[in-house]
Amino acid sequence: MKNTVNENTVNENTVEKSTTVGNAALPVITATHVSKNFLTDNGEDLTVLKDLSLTLHEGEIVAILGRSGAGKSTFLRILAGLVPPSEGKVEYRGTPLSGPNPGVAMVFQTFALMPWLTVESNVELGLQARGVGRKARKEAALQAIDSIGLDGFESAYPKELSGGMRQRVGIARALVLKPDALFMDEPFSALDVLTAENLRQEVLKLWSDGSGSLRSILIVTHNIEEAVQMADRVVVLGSHPGHVIADVPITLPRPRDKHAAAFESTVDSLYAILTGKADASQGEQQKQALSGLQQMFADSSQGNRTLPDATPGGLAGLLEIVAEYPDGVDLADLASALTFEVDDLFPLLDAGALLGMLDVKEGHVRLTSLGREWNDADILDSKTIFARIAMSHVPLVRSIDRTLRQSKNGKVRGDLIVDLLRGKHTDEVAQQQFRIAVEWGRYGELFDYDSDDDTLSLDEGGQ
Ligand code: ADP
Ligand code: MG
Repeated sequence: MKNTVNENTVNENTVEKSTTVGNAALPVITATHVSKNFLTDNGEDLTVLKDLSLTLHEGEIVAILGRSGAGKSTFLRILAGLVPPSEGKVEYRGTPLSGPNPGVAMVFQTFALMPWLTVESNVELGLQARGVGRKARKEAALQAIDSIGLDGFESAYPKELSGGMRQRVGIARALVLKPDALFMDEPFSALDVLTAENLRQEVLKLWSDGSGSLRSILIVTHNIEEAVQMADRVVVLGSHPGHVIADVPITLPRPRDKHAAAFESTVDSLYAILTGKADASQGEQQKQALSGLQQMFADSSQGNRTLPDATPGGLAGLLEIVAEYPDGVDLADLASALTFEVDDLFPLLDAGALLGMLDVKEGHVRLTSLGREWNDADILDSKTIFARIAMSHVPLVRSIDRTLRQSKNGKVRGDLIVDLLRGKHTDEVAQQQFRIAVEWGRYGELFDYDSDDDTLSLDEGGQ
């Protein structure tokens, strides 16, 4: 996708240009100057979206990136014709919408399956609503089910499926409609990290395999890496009210390597835009970076659990033991082998699961491939691997790392981080979370902490 706007574009005039100039592909869906107001419970008129313009072109993947509450879902619903805008207009292939967008099928974060229907019937629902006959319906459903790796599960019920399999049903149900544009609202955020990663890859494979079942995609996410991994273009929304602050083409070759330097620097520049760092003058910049920081810390402790109180060393020890059981081990057996109570293992198990190294299910624990990789590594590699995992799985570690990188001298007072954490936690928990994140970051040689003068610093040796 050709584009004329560079990564640091934050000027609204230029942003607008990028969505209307320089693209050879035809527009599929166009939003022009869309605003949305809601009447709140206490009768106030709340502006949720202000003056958003966006074009989704044929064959393009666009990600809408923004914080929780920025209005992403509302915007997606307006583009899908499920909610009318208060101002502005939405067109599908040049025709203004006057109801549900006929070119769109939607995948939801919560899967939204009918629990009383089998996989196949769930997938057939939309076709049924369109009046497609029984035989054609079945044929199309089986093909969609097959394409997303669900064959063999046609007659299963949603409750019998894991979260990842349920979302496959959600995707099959959308694909079966052969939509001009597939809309996905945080489709992977309810899944564990590895499942999410797998499913992302499969969606990308379907999109790129040229079979035509998947053409344009509009994905809403608050996950910067996900946006960079998937999108041809990332539209960044600012909050209160939701507005477009940048429209960033992502030209990295596919398939994209998350660990490539170019990938990471793209993530960093989007991060800067999202936290308001990229467009501000000096004094303003400080203020904005700080409020971005505050939000980021609030976000990183929101949906996520608090960090379990476990040390990397303890976790390594547990993994060593679990690795001795190729098929995994029952928790009760593991606890008695260690002469501990099952409860005592919870922080370590939680940490292993949070980091994607352990798979804990129904009283049984196994190493994941990531866990195996860490367990098998020699001591030097194991630090690097741990650093990588902590950065990708633990928002608080990532936030501290980013904060240090943003600061001029690579140092930050520990109290600043603790204060930011106090926005979401009691004092005691804030202190504890800080201590755990520091332990993990130190172990991975990401950053160091000097308790004498309460100073966090980047671990230069580690980078
Ligand atoms: P996001 O998906 O980015 O998290 P949403 O689009 O869900 O954001 O919500 C944006 C804002 O609009 C929130 O403050 C939310 O409370 C408000 N909002 C969404 N829908 C309604 C509604 N039907 N009535 C009133 N406020 C709403
Ligand atoms: Mg949302």
